[in-house]
Amino acid sequence: KCMTKEDVLEAVKERDVKFIRTQFTDTLGIIKSWAIPVEQLEEAFESGVMFDGSSIQGFTKIEESDMKLVLDPSTFRILPWRPTTGAVARILGDVYLPDGQPFEGDPRYVLKSAIEEAKKMGYSMNVGPEMEFFLFRLDANGNPTTELTDHGGYFDFSPLDRAQDVRRDIDYALEHMGFQIEASHHEVAPSQHEIDFRFGDVLSTADNVITFKYVVKSIAYHKGYYATFMPKPLFGVNGSGMHTNQSLFKEGKNAFYDPEGTDQLSQEAMYYIGGLLKHIKEFAAVTNPVVNSYKRIVPGYEAPVYLTWSAKNRSSLIRIPATRGNGTRVELRCPDPACNPYLAFALMLRAGLDGIKNKIDPGEPTNTNIFHLTEKERENKGIRSLPADLKEAIDEMKCSGFVKEVLGEHVFSNYLCAKEMEWDEYKAIVHPWELEKYLNML
Ligand code: GLU
Ligand code: MG
Ligand code: MG
Repeated sequence: KCMTKEDVLEAVKERDVKFIRTQFTDTLGIIKSWAIPVEQLEEAFESGVMFDGSSIQGFTKIEESDMKLVLDPSTFRILPWRPTTGAVARILGDVYLPDGQPFEGDPRYVLKSAIEEAKKMGYSMNVGPEMEFFLFRLDANGNPTTELTDHGGYFDFSPLDRAQDVRRDIDYALEHMGFQIEASHHEVAPSQHEIDFRFGDVLSTADNVITFKYVVKSIAYHKGYYATFMPKPLFGVNGSGMHTNQSLFKEGKNAFYDPEGTDQLSQEAMYYIGGLLKHIKEFAAVTNPVVNSYKRIVPGYEAPVYLTWSAKNRSSLIRIPATRGNGTRVELRCPDPACNPYLAFALMLRAGLDGIKNKIDPGEPTNTNIFHLTEKERENKGIRSLPADLKEAIDEMKCSGFVKEVLGEHVFSNYLCAKEMEWDEYKAIVHPWELEKYLNML
């Protein structure tokens, strides 16, 4: 059920809430938050909360810095790791300009626009992400390290492993906040974990991804650990992905399912895949947003590299999990948890819709392990790859009319600007690897 303003005002009394953390995200998906005392909540619902947008990444110039956060009561959640008397809750909001226009630089607005596009075509989107992360130790000063908490592997269970307790505490906290946990397990790399929560409509799921990261980090920190969503924190073992399961619904039915179709997939599913494959390189800078993202998508670590799809094969960029009927879905495997989910989901949805609109053929599925092919064989089959680094991804995005249209001029140019700065910084720095490699040699 969706909470209304009245429900929330009632709930804060009942649950003895003292502070409300209002939240939204900047262009890069970082949570911005400030607390208001509960006494101001009713007023905040009425007239919004004013803030200065000029200090927010990718928002606005100084001369037009007044902005307003309009709270969305359906996102009210009590933070279970805070006290129960004088509790703290959070509410997400939408960003508006003082004249009452929605701010086109707000990532949530970008996603809402994509949802509108889908609606015009009769579709709604469901999304289920698979969140992977590492738990590391804190040093004596409370700063994060990359020191392992265990030497476990996939699905390992060790009763002596304290990090497993932390993951359980995270599960509890998430459940308190309304998440339905579907799976929670140790992942392949040491210290790596995965928690999957139940799919939902695309907007709530993007909200949930933001909340998820916040909860995981908070609980881990409370227990003396550091949780990171950095895509590839350790060389030589798997990185962390955010596989994104997605489906379209039309008139209450899963539009990807067709009992008569090949593999019981509908023509729309095929075109949707075609759209994703067509545009993924252009928006990889959003699904895989940091320099480090590209250290994950290399052969050998269960992350995709080549632009292929398959009903079976886990080495593909796009996989169709075996479930059919209403659970029929497409799994895009390149996104990582560093991405801004609002922008990433908006782009996936619009790419899929473009596929349907323009009947984009995804080509034949690739059912062999592509990593076993030689470069020549891949070339002969016309298999393209994801961008090799952030620079290549930025260059692809820059030339994309599609991405510009989906993100809107404001987000598009601000995002590219931030990413170019990031790349330029990386490019100029002398990295430890270079010293190790060359100092003694040259
Ligand atoms: N950690 C892998 C990745 O980077 C995915 C492992 C899995 O299949 O869940 O995408
Ligand atoms: Mg996994
Ligand atoms: Mg998966």
